[in-house]
Amino acid sequence: MTYPMPKVRGTLTPDKVLADLTWLRVGGPADWLFRPADVEDLADFLRDLPAGVPVFPIGVGSNLIVRDGGLRAIVIRLGRGFNDISVEGCQVQVGAAALDAHVAKKAADAGVDLTFLRTIPGSIGGAIRMNAGCYGSYMADVLQSVDIILRSGEKMTLTPADLKLCYRQSDLPEGAVLIGAVLKGPQGDPQELHARMAAQLATRDATQPTKDRSAGSTFRNPAGFSSTGRSDDVHDLKAWKVIDNAGMRGARRGGAQMSEKHSNFMINTGDATAADLEYLGEEVRKKVYDSSGITLEWEIMRVGDPG
Ligand SMILES: Cc1cc2nc3c(=O)[nH]c(=O)nc-3n(C[C@H](O)[C@H](O)[C@H](O)COP(=O)(O)OP(=O)(O)OC[C@H]3O[C@@H](n4cnc5c(N)ncnc54)[C@H](O)[C@@H]3O)c2cc1C
Repeated sequence: MTYPMPKVRGTLTPDKVLADLTWLRVGGPADWLFRPADVEDLADFLRDLPAGVPVFPIGVGSNLIVRDGGLRAIVIRLGRGFNDISVEGCQVQVGAAALDAHVAKKAADAGVDLTFLRTIPGSIGGAIRMNAGCYGSYMADVLQSVDIILRSGEKMTLTPADLKLCYRQSDLPEGAVLIGAVLKGPQGDPQELHARMAAQLATRDATQPTKDRSAGSTFRNPAGFSSTGRSDDVHDLKAWKVIDNAGMRGARRGGAQMSEKHSNFMINTGDATAADLEYLGEEVRKKVYDSSGITLEWEIMRVGDPG
């Protein structure tokens, strides 16, 4: 598809290989990568871009498999100009490009408890989109309001209810870009909050392949599964457990592997393609279904064209 490109103050790069921008280090080229200079630049660009042209916002790519054929879209990645963090009382105003870890640390310095964000390696935009969470807290627990730019270029403020946040998902208008949010956390003692985050980091390093290229949990936990079909028999299951039971811990396909350290983490051991990763994931789903009747749902988002 050819179309006129609006003038921008940020940068527009054609055929940008997305492997450079994802944690798994896989993915073919996007038609264009747009890095807006600021909110006005983004809004003007979206307004002036012909309406049918697809756009795809990304954060830091920590929950993405971009397929080897790349993305027929304009990928929008926010950076400087969208990463301010300011704290007032218990409220934290954040730009969508701010990293979760930075937000958690700055909030803790001011005695606000957003500690659960410390070990999630994404951006605030990705955390809202995915309703990210851990250690019993989710984005939905702390989100007060969200600023977005619609595909038409119009700015809007949404409430958490508008986003219909639930387990690892939210509703956003098609092509909308999250630009910022207000979060609110409970008060805490800064020293205690920093100590808690240090402990959480240590737990992660001990139990997850944090030094490998991954995208976190590959599959959602199959909550509410009943092995007998009776409602009094419903129990929560962990995805890693059913993967273990299916004998898939450590399973490999090309350069893709289900981690030996945490079997719900899929890793790129060095030369994996997106096809290797996706094929391995589908093989795990099949083996789990065959051995237990449980259908695992992908938590990692997969986008783009096959190679
Ligand atoms: C080692 C590791 C550990 C992890 N642990 C956890 C965990 O404990 N809990 C958890 O929830 N997740 C975890 N994850 C997954 C991942 O970090 C989260 O889902 C994170 O919130 C994704 O943020 P991101 O900026 O990388 O988004 P991306 O992966 O870039 O994108 C994810 C989705 O968000 C959308 N998106 C991103 N930014 C915007 C924006 N500005 N506007 C509109 N849409 C946007 C994208 O279109 C895409 O749909 C882990 C990942 C890794 C690699």
